[in-house]
Amino acid sequence: CGIVGYVGDNKSIEVLMGGLRRLEYRGYDSAGIAVIDAAGRLNTAKRSGKLVALTNELAAHPINEGSTGIGHTRWATHGGPTDQNAHPHLGDNGKLALIHNGIIENFAPLRDELLAEGFTFASETDTEVAAVLLGREYQRTGDLGEAFRAIVGRLDGAFTLLAVHQDQPGVVVGARRNSPLVIGLGDGENFLGSDVAAFVEYTRRAVAIGQDQIVTITPELVSVTDFAGVPVEVEEFEIAWDA
Ligand code: GLU
Repeated sequence: CGIVGYVGDNKSIEVLMGGLRRLEYRGYDSAGIAVIDAAGRLNTAKRSGKLVALTNELAAHPINEGSTGIGHTRWATHGGPTDQNAHPHLGDNGKLALIHNGIIENFAPLRDELLAEGFTFASETDTEVAAVLLGREYQRTGDLGEAFRAIVGRLDGAFTLLAVHQDQPGVVVGARRNSPLVIGLGDGENFLGSDVAAFVEYTRRAVAIGQDQIVTITPELVSVTDFAGVPVEVEEFEIAWDA
């Protein structure tokens, strides 16, 4: 339902939790974050219920701060609002984390294909199929952008997807079809959000991602391509917002 992504200084958890708080108005039943820490390890925390449940979980079982992360508030469509079904979902043996807004209509045949190849699933969501598929393509390509380009054509429905991989710290990649995604341009840091509320506290400079496009952000760079990998010119706008 709500999505936030961050690359920059060593404060992902703070940015992600703040972003999720500002996206609460959209409604949600679960929340979770994934952060790549300074040692290059992926850590996740997720809980059903209100954000305070995730805050309490982080207090009871702290995860390391890091400079790269993604955060999600879920409005369940496939699989009940449980801890296990909350996002992020993992791929590539727990080295990749993915969050999703929307519905992947053809998740059932994709899951059957992956089960037949020996992959296993920890949730009942449509989303986890995308995480496992992306992990499989990451193993083949060694690059999140390449892996996204390999899977987006196979997904039907509506999606904003964001992913991080612990072997690519400092990188967040997203893709969207029939569901919004906006870049927030910072100074030595960049943001992604399902809407500008996710990052308006940090920057007023934004770029809207178009239909069927893939975006890669690093602390210094932002690049957008279509699903085939052809670069897209981006157009910056100023957020007019009384936050
Ligand atoms: N379809 C996904 C799920 O049920 C994502 C729902 C959402 O947009 O939050 O987990």
